[in-house]
Amino acid sequence: QASLTSKSKDAYPDWKPGEPVPYAALCTTFSLIEMTSKRLIIMEYCSKFLKQVVRLTPDDLLSTVLLMINKLAPDYAGIELGIGESLIMKAIGETTGRSMQIIKADQKQIGDLGLVAVKSRSTQPTMFKPKPLTVRGVHKGLMDIATVSGTGAQGKKVDLIKKLLSSSDANAKGKVDINKDKGGPSEAKFLIRFLEGKLRLGLAERTVIPSLSQAMVAHEAEQKGKLPGTGEMEKGEALLKTVYSELPSYDVIIPAILEHGIMSLRDHCNLRPGVPLKPMLAKPTKAITEVLDRFENQTFTCEYKYDGERAQIHYVAKDSSEELNQAAPTTTAAKGVAAIFSRNSEDLSQKYPDVLAKLGDWVKDGTKSFVLDCETVGWDVAEKKVLPFQQLMTRKKKDVKIEDVKVKVCVFAFDLLYLNGEAVVKKSLRERRDLLREAFVPVEGEFSLATSMNGQELDDIQHFLDESVKASCEGLMVKMLDGAESGYEPSKRSRNWLKVKKDYLAGVGDSLDLVVLGAYHGKGKRASVYGAFLLACYNPTSDSYETVCNIGTGFSESILEELHKQLSEIVIDRPKPFYSHSSVSQHQPDVWFEPKYVWEVRAADLTLSPRYKAGCKESADPTGEDRGISLRFPRFIKIREDKKCDEATSSRQVAEMYRKQESVTKSKGPSVDDDF
Ligand code: ATP
Repeated sequence: QASLTSKSKDAYPDWKPGEPVPYAALCTTFSLIEMTSKRLIIMEYCSKFLKQVVRLTPDDLLSTVLLMINKLAPDYAGIELGIGESLIMKAIGETTGRSMQIIKADQKQIGDLGLVAVKSRSTQPTMFKPKPLTVRGVHKGLMDIATVSGTGAQGKKVDLIKKLLSSSDANAKGKVDINKDKGGPSEAKFLIRFLEGKLRLGLAERTVIPSLSQAMVAHEAEQKGKLPGTGEMEKGEALLKTVYSELPSYDVIIPAILEHGIMSLRDHCNLRPGVPLKPMLAKPTKAITEVLDRFENQTFTCEYKYDGERAQIHYVAKDSSEELNQAAPTTTAAKGVAAIFSRNSEDLSQKYPDVLAKLGDWVKDGTKSFVLDCETVGWDVAEKKVLPFQQLMTRKKKDVKIEDVKVKVCVFAFDLLYLNGEAVVKKSLRERRDLLREAFVPVEGEFSLATSMNGQELDDIQHFLDESVKASCEGLMVKMLDGAESGYEPSKRSRNWLKVKKDYLAGVGDSLDLVVLGAYHGKGKRASVYGAFLLACYNPTSDSYETVCNIGTGFSESILEELHKQLSEIVIDRPKPFYSHSSVSQHQPDVWFEPKYVWEVRAADLTLSPRYKAGCKESADPTGEDRGISLRFPRFIKIREDKKCDEATSSRQVAEMYRKQESVTKSKGPSVDDDF
């Protein structure tokens, strides 16, 4: 166990029990965390502070945890701040009486709006001491910003930001030197960073969850006059992790912990209809033989990999009142639950009212509630076959009326996570499939179970893959069928699910989902739009985006126009400090963007290049020359509307793909930037 540095003694002094948690206390903790990159130390600061909150003001535990993970509510609540850099700059300028020109110049020089706010606040004479901010007050203020709507919403958002900012201390301990201590424990800095969506503290959920469990176990032991044992600490952490993976909602979990204690969490918090869980994901493979190697001596099953949109469907029949009390309220259901969630836990119910209206027709008598994992796929009613993905994308996303629906969808169910009041994720896939067959009735063109095949021979699989391609699918999913390992693993990219895509058997292991960081002005025919783009993968450890290629192929003229419109709205003056890119001037794009869009891209193969940074921190370059991995002949496939930027392909995945490729083929030519 790493021990805390002497700084830990600096922790915020106690506030009075029952009083709201001072926001300055949270910012002091953030600032201590900001000064280290060691995960164990970060966790200790974090759990120490959470323990203090539980001991003094447990009512504020939920808002404290949410502010720590830069969220206002669970993902499915669909609450977004909806503000960009320019709005934040406006608010900083107006609060501190500095012109937009000066703020922009500062931003250009400093490159971190949080620090620009600190600088602006600390040069401003303070007429009176503002009433100190509290954690619950900040959470409420931010919530107000997110939920403001209607005419003049942008102006109202700026006013609300100004209100928070003018109550914030530039630094809890006096004047700040922005060049020292990264700006110190400034409230203004962390407020602005929260608004930007990046606290940049290495405080991801995977750190906060163990910290929260440690804080709770220690607090509960203390109350009994005992010291917590290592075994209890480990048990608490494992418990919270599992519960959170099945019920990812602090709004439900934290009140339950406070009421019943962490060790009893399982009795009160389980997977439930209405709260979407993060889906299980698959590992890519490059050859059917790789599949056979992986599942040697174990039974597996193959399913078609449908090319549509992932859909987690939640249902509780209207007359099933017992479960209704349990289920969290969803936006769509006052009585009963009928909701569809995306891969990202976004509520898609407004997009698929036609599907929701039919849920009751697909169940057999006795099926009162369920959570299904499915793919919605465009359906050609006349030809009775699957439509290409692009057709599905033409469906409207909001306020769809059933009578206006042009592209019909068929739902292909491939897994069952909950049935009649019971979570079934721990059962084997074979058992879950049997339950699926017993509880549901297929309806042609509306609802079907994924086509599957249990043959174990290479020829069987090859034949099934060919069939899937003929049926307009992307390839196969191959899954462990029996035993504990075949259980459903929420939020995990698991070796127990492998994907075999038809078109990457020969190329890179998988298509990649990359973040658009910049663009180059087009020439000739493309003069009025961007002609090429700079893309990056995501490094969750350093919370940064690492460049991986330039791309200019795979775009139709109309998509280039659409992208130009979309991206022009998020142009920023300079790269964000968390962009890891080449410093060579000829390698800079003409414009930079806020990280917002994820694109799916295919490539011929991967190579090393000094121009890009992907995987540099993973030490992918065996020569030690600090070259990053880059894509050769990248080609645009589609916009991944269902992925957020921090769900893009990770640097580690890129490095893994590169290593796998290197073990097959040796050294390729140099990286080839498209259209350059
Ligand atoms: P991609 O969809 O690009 O392959 P991903 O990261 O969204 O990547 P993966 O785990 O890599 O997700 O692939 C699984 C995806 O395939 C699921 O998210 C789901 O949308 C889709 N899919 C289609 N058919 C099936 C099936 N039979 N079983 C599981 N997933 C399926």
